[in-house]
Formats: sequence, structure tokens, C-alpha cells
Amino acid sequence: MNIIQKDQVHFSFDAANAPVDYAESGEEVTFCTQDCYCEQIQEDGYDFQSIDMRRNNPVTGPLYVKGAEPGDVLRVEIKNITMAPEGSMTARSGAGVYEIEGNHCRKFSIEDNQVLFDQDICVPVKPMVGVMGTAPEGDAVSAQSPGEHGGNLDIKDLGEGALLYLPVKVSGGLLSMGDIHAVQGDGETVICALEVSGEIKVKVDVLKDRKDIPTPFIVTKSHYLTTASDESLNKSSVAAARKMHRFLQRHSELTDAQSGMLLSLAGNLRISQVVNPEKGCIMEFPIGLAKETFEK
Ligand code: CA
Ligand code: CA
Repeated sequence: MNIIQKDQVHFSFDAANAPVDYAESGEEVTFCTQDCYCEQIQEDGYDFQSIDMRRNNPVTGPLYVKGAEPGDVLRVEIKNITMAPEGSMTARSGAGVYEIEGNHCRKFSIEDNQVLFDQDICVPVKPMVGVMGTAPEGDAVSAQSPGEHGGNLDIKDLGEGALLYLPVKVSGGLLSMGDIHAVQGDGETVICALEVSGEIKVKVDVLKDRKDIPTPFIVTKSHYLTTASDESLNKSSVAAARKMHRFLQRHSELTDAQSGMLLSLAGNLRISQVVNPEKGCIMEFPIGLAKETFEK
């Protein structure tokens, strides 16, 4: 099985990035990934000023998937996420949504699937992948940004068992990923989650003639999720909701009015993150409720 080592990193999704590995459609590949600080936070209380923030959000790859051509969809199934036994966080002045004095770096241990936040507080882990995307066809996109190519989505539902559908814009797709979070809340409000190094095992499949899939699109065991990103939360929220509205009309017998009513009853419009250059929203809808016919 293919294993891509964690020193094979880059910092933007770019058609010019040379592939570091090749896979057939249907193959499993393991991406070894560094945490979002390139593992620079070495101890609890580390001096934030010592971190080179130009080395932020490394992604491992890219992987060239044979047979993937522009117009196709790349389905990435997250089979397994393994994590290092400790993670890092920062809280700092002028970043995230809170008013915080000074810059703080912390390390937290993970034991028995719990983050040991302090002596009294434990948080159960729920591992997820923060960044996963394909190369765009035009200008490179920083690995800090989410977008139509996927990228820095920071959607907590992207955990084990989830399927992420990404557009193929260049031959091979050029899939890269990184930024594992041991756990993250909706919003990622302090600007980071529990940032961990680890390994992501995925299965990649090239899907032909699937213009019906509103990429970047997520299917979990229980829900569909449409996604959108924009500098304005007003815009990304409406865009994510409308994508699901169109999805229901395309894949069920429901009319526009019926789809809207059902989404208003049973769909959840959520903020995924508010800390990246473009803010992310998702619309989630329970699989099967619309008697839809979507082929995964
Ligand atoms: Ca992230
Ligand atoms: Ca992160």
C-alpha cells in the first residue's frame, strides 16, 4: 500500500506541484501528516514568537490518481485516522474571535481517547481532517484557505468513515491533506483545534459523469453535507443552504417549495469555521429522509 511520508509537504494547492506518489482508482493510500505548526511547538508554554508562522498548515502530497481527468469527481473515503499521543494549541491576541491578552502555546496529552485539558477537565477525542483538497486549475490557493477545491475546510464531520467529494481540475487530481484535529468544535473559534500529527488512511475513487455532486460535498454515515466558503458568512451560509436545496431537487421527487420546507424542518445550517480567510458554512440533511436516490 502507498504511504506518503510527512516530510513531503507543501503550503498551497497548486497545479504546478509535482506529484510525490501515484495511485490507481480504488486504492488505499496513507498520508503521514505534520500538525499545523510543522511540529514547531515542542513543549507546553513554548514561546509563540519562536514559531515560524510561514510554515503554517503544511499538507502532505500531492497524490496523482490515475485516470482522474478534469471534470471528474474524486471521492476520498477516510478509512482511518491515527494520532500522536499529544497535540498543540495556541491562543493569541488578535487571532480568532476572542479578546485574549498575549500569546499562549499549550501542549495537551491524549490518553484513553480523552484530551487531558487540565486536572479536572477531559474532552473526548473525535479525530478529523482539517485540510483536504485537489489542485485548482488556475492560480494556486494557500493551504490556509477553504474553497471550491476543498482545502482548509475545518469541518468536524470529516472523520473516520466520511466521504469527501472533490472536483478534479487537473490530470491526476493532485490530492493533498493535513491538519488533523484530535477534536474541534463548530467555529474553531480560538483559531485552532487540538492540532496533532498523525496518519490518514484514505481510499480514492475516480467518478466519471457526476456533475450532480455539489463539490466539495460530504457524506457521513448519517448525513449529507453541502459546503460553501466566503469572506462573508452571510454569503457562505446562503450558498451552502442553496446547494443542498438544489441537491434535494435533483435527487428526489420534491419540488423547490417542498425541498425548502423540508430543509427548514430537518436541515441544519451550521457554521464550520470562522477563523480562516474565507468563513465556512455547511448544510446538513439526514440521509434517506427525502426518499432521495443519490448513488454514493
Ligand atoms: Ca485548519
Ligand atoms: Ca488546524
